[in-house]
Amino acid sequence: MSDTTLSSLPTLAELHAMGAAQQPTYPDPAVLASAVDTLRSRPPLVFAGECDDLKTKLAAVARGEAFLLQGGDCAETLAEVSADNVRAKLRVLLQMSVVLTYAASVPVVKLGRLAGQFAKPRSSDFETREGVTLPAYRGDAVNGYDFTEASRIPDPQRLVDVYNASAATLNLVRAFTTGGYADLRQVHSWNTDFVKGAPLGARYEALAGEIDRAMTFMHAIGVDSDELRRVDFHSSHEALVLEYEHALTRVDSRTNDLYDVSGHFLWIGERTRQLDGAHVDLLSRIKNPIGVKLGPSTTPDDALALAAKLNPTNEPGRLTFITRFGAGKIREGLPALVDKVTAEGVSVAWVCDPMHGNGFTAPSGYKTRNFDDVLDEVQGFFDVHRSLGTWPGGLHIELTGDNVTECLGGGEELSDADLATRYESLCDPRLNRVQSLEMAFLVADMLRH
Ligand code: PEP
Ligand code: MN
Repeated sequence: MSDTTLSSLPTLAELHAMGAAQQPTYPDPAVLASAVDTLRSRPPLVFAGECDDLKTKLAAVARGEAFLLQGGDCAETLAEVSADNVRAKLRVLLQMSVVLTYAASVPVVKLGRLAGQFAKPRSSDFETREGVTLPAYRGDAVNGYDFTEASRIPDPQRLVDVYNASAATLNLVRAFTTGGYADLRQVHSWNTDFVKGAPLGARYEALAGEIDRAMTFMHAIGVDSDELRRVDFHSSHEALVLEYEHALTRVDSRTNDLYDVSGHFLWIGERTRQLDGAHVDLLSRIKNPIGVKLGPSTTPDDALALAAKLNPTNEPGRLTFITRFGAGKIREGLPALVDKVTAEGVSVAWVCDPMHGNGFTAPSGYKTRNFDDVLDEVQGFFDVHRSLGTWPGGLHIELTGDNVTECLGGGEELSDADLATRYESLCDPRLNRVQSLEMAFLVADMLRH
């Protein structure tokens, strides 16, 4: 039976024949085939039942009963798969989610942009530095960041390396989220290394103090739920390299349905959402909850056609639209999309990515984003949904738990001159820990009002 299900899946060759944007050109098909075979023999990274749980939670988001917090690096790197790095990302997401949950009294669905976010679409296939032109860096899943000819050649072994790195990351995430680190009684400890007296750290401390009192009260009256000791946390990444996602698409033995077991939630990027393209086809065949990024060129009919193809049964929680218009375009562009999708009775969760429409190159040469633009897009997103009576369902953010200097502004008022201090992203600039927490407080205010 499962063979029948699997045979309904197009082969990799068939997928490529549909037209697939943003794919590496591998030099040696035999080496590629061998890496894909290895991946096919590996166990799943996530389980179908976990994907279904997330889908149920996203259905609550679509109904306006929960808020999605999706965040992590623009591009994970193999070198940064360390306990410290993963813990720091998890910590900032937990802190943000506590702020959103407590300050806005809304359940928060926590979704990491991690354990698979290793492949990047690029606006140009090439990169030129000081007169030398080489193939663009496409993420550690594909080639190396070093600016040499050898490093930029796509290497299929990297797909296996990324699988292993994702397994290690997920293992750590599972341990942290269920093994005590995410216990709500730890709300203070997540904050201990914040500089004492820093206004944001103090604001968080005050909130954590309130949570403590609530917990003590609950304990006193005999409420001691498991929910206080662990959190549900799921993984997500852009489904980009067809070889990786196809090799990890498996038949669920419970239901005989196909799931992409490389992550709980997969999304299709702005550059690969062609209706008749391979990415839309592949994701239309799996049962995971999925997302599509929608930029300012998206027409209402595009959105409806994507929904019809990706969620023909209109299953709640299956489809999330992640809009990324840019602060200057969201108020004008978003209403028509939301209006038409809503009028047609299409069930989606609307989520705001305030990062990808707001990038620019600073005079220093760094790719950056302004905290105020990011915030303005989120505010525009809330304004549009509030005026249409629809639910602003969540945030999709590029962030890190470290004190990097990649985005301008925020409470620390980072300036162009500060960017060089600690700019570590190999791809897009991320909000640092302070900026992320600040964003959570500001969004909690938006949710409350
Ligand atoms: C991203 O999420 O890093 C990305 C490339 O986004 P988009 O597809 O929206 O440009
Ligand atoms: Mn990005």
